[in-house]
Amino acid sequence: MSEITSTATLDAESRSGLRGTYQAKAYAAQSEISGLARTSIHRRNPQPQDIQLEILYCGVCHSDLHQVRNEWKSVVPTVYPCVPGHEIVGRVVKTGSAVKKFKEGDLGAVGCMVGSCGVCANCREGLEQYCEKFPILTYNGEDTVLGGVTYGGYSESIVVDEAFALRVSDRLDPAATAPLLCAGITTYSPLRHWNVRKRQKLGVVGLGGLGHMALKFGNAFGAHVVLFTTSPSKTADALRLGAHEVVLSKNEAEMQKHVGSFDFILDAVSADHDVSAYLNLLKRDGTLTLVGLPSNPIPVPAFGLIMGRKQLSGSAIGGILETQEMLDFCADNGITCDIELIRIQQINEAYNRLVRGDVRYRFVIDMVSLK
Ligand code: NAP
Ligand code: ZN
Repeated sequence: MSEITSTATLDAESRSGLRGTYQAKAYAAQSEISGLARTSIHRRNPQPQDIQLEILYCGVCHSDLHQVRNEWKSVVPTVYPCVPGHEIVGRVVKTGSAVKKFKEGDLGAVGCMVGSCGVCANCREGLEQYCEKFPILTYNGEDTVLGGVTYGGYSESIVVDEAFALRVSDRLDPAATAPLLCAGITTYSPLRHWNVRKRQKLGVVGLGGLGHMALKFGNAFGAHVVLFTTSPSKTADALRLGAHEVVLSKNEAEMQKHVGSFDFILDAVSADHDVSAYLNLLKRDGTLTLVGLPSNPIPVPAFGLIMGRKQLSGSAIGGILETQEMLDFCADNGITCDIELIRIQQINEAYNRLVRGDVRYRFVIDMVSLK
């Protein structure tokens, strides 16, 4: 265990007056307009099935920004203070007595979920993300142990049931691995589910954190990969990341060349945009899957779907088993994220850059900067 964490644990227990918890440094938003600033939160002391991670790196997902700014208020209103972060890689510093998968000193990871009911049909199939009672999200979820709300990875440490922690191979760079816990699994899972493969044409819409991982996975699965972007300056990077072609989505003539040609399109755009333009690009029986989560409802013309028996679908992250499969696939195939490492003090500026689509291709917070 690192000295810093153990000292924090002792101090926290004596200071907090809350039995069974310790204090951890964190960054939180106090309201939808406050931005993020330093704070201190309570974490539970590890229970028998828990591990405590000293967080080394945490990726910055656009979902963090949506929730910090309460952009999903009609579906999942944000509870403040909000400590975001669900792309967590850390070092195991404590293990509960019943822990089997981890020992002190191991690398471990936490993604978007820290619990689920465990007994519904979806949980039993390893699809905890579709838990009928709703999964316990890593932040802005219901903390069933301490009460109140869960706090995420913009923090020096986290305690999690080992069933929701992932193992990280020593062959992977931990900083570039962190975004795999959300951007990675959210793109891997639908490409696997819809069996995107050789001799298929895959479209990826939006080159951000999710989009750049979709290019890498689509390429690794053998598909012909086409990126749709609003940013001409990202063309060369897209080709390097795995795209075979790049289309500027605002260029009508370029879009026309691809009408009726795609087996599968993955839409990873964070803001309002015209989804029907992509339905036109699908082949008969093709599928357009939304992973991006703009706050407004999306208008879909029925004609765009019925002519060609097209399918419009969505997909949320991935289950724990599949997340481990994805991490192992990445270790075996040398796949990680392209990241820009930031200090936590740069987080508000990073959010403003995300809104502008100015990310290459995932911000990752070096948590040393919080010490
Ligand atoms: P990101 O890094 O900010 O990337 C989003 C990309 O969308 C931008 O880089 C930009 O790409 C494109 N874009 C932005 N504004 C646009 C506009 N007005 N019109 C067209 N394109 C635009 O975001 P991310 O972290 O990858 O997340 C993407 C979305 O997925 C977010 O809504 C997030 O909440 C959601 N998400 C969903 C799940 C899930 O389980 N389904 C999981 C994680 C995240 P170009 O510059 O190439 O156009
Ligand atoms: Zn995310």
